[in-house]
Amino acid sequence: MSRTLRVRQAQTVLPFGVGAVFDIQGESFVATGIGDWPQRAKQRVESTRLAARLGVTGFYAAPPTPNERYDVPDAPGAPYIRFPSWLFCGACRRMKRWRIADEKPGQPPRCPSCSPRPALAPMRFVQICSAGHLGDIDWWFWAHSRREATERRECTERGKLRFLVSDRASGLEALSVVCTAKGCGAVRDLLDILGTHGMRCSGRNPWQRANEAVECVKPVQIVQRTAGNLYYPVVHSALDIPETETAVYADETLASRVREHDLWVSLCKVAATPRAEVFREMIKDDTGADDALLDVLLAEETGQPVAAPSGLAAAPVRPDLSREEWAAFMAPVPPATRDFALRATTLDLARETMEPWVGLRRRIGRVLLADRLREVRALSGFTRVSPDATVVPADTARRLKWLPAVEVFGEGIFLTLDKDALTEWEADDRVRRRVAGMRADLDRAFQKDRLESLTGAELSPRFVLLHTLAHLLIRQLSFESGYTTASLRERIYARPDQDQYGILVYTAAGDAEGTLGGLVRQGEPPRLAETLLRMTEAAAWCSADPLCAEHAGQGFGNLNRAACHACALLPETSCESGNTLLDRALVVGGEQVPGYFEPIVTAARAAAAAALEQIPS
Ligand SMILES: [Zn+2]
Ligand SMILES: [Zn+2]
Ligand SMILES: [Zn+2]
Ligand SMILES: [Zn+2]
Ligand SMILES: [Zn+2]
Repeated sequence: MSRTLRVRQAQTVLPFGVGAVFDIQGESFVATGIGDWPQRAKQRVESTRLAARLGVTGFYAAPPTPNERYDVPDAPGAPYIRFPSWLFCGACRRMKRWRIADEKPGQPPRCPSCSPRPALAPMRFVQICSAGHLGDIDWWFWAHSRREATERRECTERGKLRFLVSDRASGLEALSVVCTAKGCGAVRDLLDILGTHGMRCSGRNPWQRANEAVECVKPVQIVQRTAGNLYYPVVHSALDIPETETAVYADETLASRVREHDLWVSLCKVAATPRAEVFREMIKDDTGADDALLDVLLAEETGQPVAAPSGLAAAPVRPDLSREEWAAFMAPVPPATRDFALRATTLDLARETMEPWVGLRRRIGRVLLADRLREVRALSGFTRVSPDATVVPADTARRLKWLPAVEVFGEGIFLTLDKDALTEWEADDRVRRRVAGMRADLDRAFQKDRLESLTGAELSPRFVLLHTLAHLLIRQLSFESGYTTASLRERIYARPDQDQYGILVYTAAGDAEGTLGGLVRQGEPPRLAETLLRMTEAAAWCSADPLCAEHAGQGFGNLNRAACHACALLPETSCESGNTLLDRALVVGGEQVPGYFEPIVTAARAAAAAALEQIPS
């Protein structure tokens, strides 16, 4: 029976975008660069705003076609190739390096030696480097790596390897690669395979041709092909907001004026040298563009972040798109277009005179329901080893000016805090001290630049508060509505310099028409007020307390305070900032710090206690 391998269109940016390694039905593949995408069938994805900000001409999505013919050139769908190419037979334990010529369309690779012929399994380990390269491990070298170089030279048959498993040991120690070439028998187990072993980097990714390889001297790390540090996608996302601002268009016109300038090509050639200065000045004079725009355009054209002349800010790696989105949400009359349909609602607490409802009303500002949202997600590249490593562009050949993207439709709940209540809470010394500690950890964290693009130049109390609120709300909504947490996402609008103080929780359903109103229903009165109340009650306690509540730094880079898997973390795809910069204490209060919603928790407890006293014993 031939098998069907499917990657849904929405997955071609995340999680299976360019450079990602993934399993389908026991086979392992890597998504190739967009230079290999089918020319004819790709579909344009519109997002003028995102294109202008990223300095590209536009976006394309892979066609939403079943992808079983991934191994046929120019077949529809995003292209994938088999990786790792080293496979083994579970029956005879022979290892085989699979070549494209060995592929039989519609069939998994099968053992040439056994009968019946079982499907071959991919080796579990691969090698990566911080320049973003990925390659097969030289298993022959591994098997012979305990031998002297002279002994190694005596073995001349490179392909004869077996992948043995022993029942006398467990874990990696039980696995070994043995050379079965005549008179050799070299063997090494995999006990200490993870890490660096002085192996050479291939200087490329598996889909790149040998002549595209660069000389790479970065240390090679051996990792499992499913390891978290194998792939960090660089994804940008924009909501399709109505075109209220002309600024974006000014950028775009300016960008084309720069690209059409006589000296533009010359500038691109010398961008990294001191000679660039002269060209820059002339182009700036003639077009009216500023250094920031030139940096963005140069980075896009050359694929290299341009070191800005001293005294100027470096090119923004992740442009800030929050400004226009926030403006659209805060417009006096919420816009209602086909792909951005907002309507105002309230918590419906205006007539309440009792706590905790009065306190809740005082702390929440605007509530909007988005019946329809369109989001474009584009992939500009990826890194390996760490999120701060060298970015490999989605077009590894660096010829294309578009990016792979998908559009997703969904719905959402937008809410803001009450500005006065927030300002008052933020002025509290204990709040400032607590967040200053997080800021110090952030300064040390190696994802600093990436996170700063979300938090703004300074980590503010409101960012941590709103971010944690988004996480808690997503968890509570998921609990009450049946949405999985992975199907909900956050957007945090919390830059004090732009007077932001809100969040958007939305569905990101992928293809077609999105979801069917379930989330928006949760945002309608009286549900949202009740959900918020239950959320604050739930957040006051974590099953890992008192440990979790007292933590002075947990999670990635110690960037979280009172926040762990049991109480506040979300699936990776739901969070904009890698599950960092979270603290329940800022929401519901802690030993040393008042929470923004703390009075509500206290009032709710008091109300519950009073109700108990009313019951005659
Ligand atoms: Zn076999
Ligand atoms: Zn040998
Ligand atoms: Zn490398
Ligand atoms: Zn916890
Ligand atoms: Zn988050």
